[in-house]
Amino acid sequence: MRKDPTRGQWVLVRPKAKAAQAGECPYCPGAEHLTPPEIAAYRKDGPGPNGPGWTVRVVPESDPYFRVERELVREGVGMFDMITPRGASELILESPRHDDTLASMEPEQLEAVLWMYRDRLLDLKRDSQIRDILVSRRHRKPGVPPHHPYSRVTAIPIVFDETRRELREAREYYQYKRRCLYCDILRQETGAEERVVRLTKAFVVLVPYAARLPLETWVLPRQHGCSYEDAINGEAAPELARLLSGLFRALERGLGDPSYELLVHTAPNLRSRILQGDWATIRDDYHWHIEVLVQPERANRLGGIFISETSPEVAASRLREAWEPEA
Ligand SMILES: [Zn+2]
Ligand SMILES: [Zn+2]
Repeated sequence: MRKDPTRGQWVLVRPKAKAAQAGECPYCPGAEHLTPPEIAAYRKDGPGPNGPGWTVRVVPESDPYFRVERELVREGVGMFDMITPRGASELILESPRHDDTLASMEPEQLEAVLWMYRDRLLDLKRDSQIRDILVSRRHRKPGVPPHHPYSRVTAIPIVFDETRRELREAREYYQYKRRCLYCDILRQETGAEERVVRLTKAFVVLVPYAARLPLETWVLPRQHGCSYEDAINGEAAPELARLLSGLFRALERGLGDPSYELLVHTAPNLRSRILQGDWATIRDDYHWHIEVLVQPERANRLGGIFISETSPEVAASRLREAWEPEA
């Protein structure tokens, strides 16, 4: 990974991945031998690891960007900075059913996926050389043929640029007001209601005030906490699964099944500290949440400024209308 010193941004430079061979899906039950050995799985029955009978299964990506086996090396190349891509690239196979989508899955299946997100975050954060972990999920990425449903876990030895920016804003707000930025957003949005799509005991689904894309949606826990993995428990997990299921069904069935990207925004690995005091207040100033960007490939920008043609208030009412009443 190389750092562009003029932008302060990291770039991963690597040869082009080999094209996936067409044919049998390597992620379907019965084809477990086609993937590298599994990292984790939930199983109801079956012969055990690397066999069928699983409900959720985690495998290393076959051509990973980041690997744990690599040694972490930082070095200067003249005036430039470089770092080896030590980390992990994993795929969470969300369902044994090849044609499943986040909308077609039962909320119980989606809940198992949410538990696996937690398990992987907890496990990867035991490695203090891993500084940040991104859990992401693309639905119908343009140019990518339909494939077995999976989420991606990417763990890296630096903090992702977007995470760093978000952490900095949250910390500055906290330094100034002594309150969590997201708790304040929650208070204001649940009071005003016009951008709230759904409100449950523990979560709010809303279209943010300055949505970058029409139908951009955030899911915020109403209870303050900086990390996803500490918040997911027997009460929160089923509630979050039902909510996300409702959101994905509204998008797929009521709003034309657009592409989307889900990102879990959670605190970086607090065991890995480079600058002393860097994250001294993160437990108070940062608030984990989930962001869903609908049709991210359609983002319209001018010099870095997003241009959205739908007002967030209209987007919120469209989402409310498309939301199916719960059975
Ligand atoms: Zn498959
Ligand atoms: Zn908060």
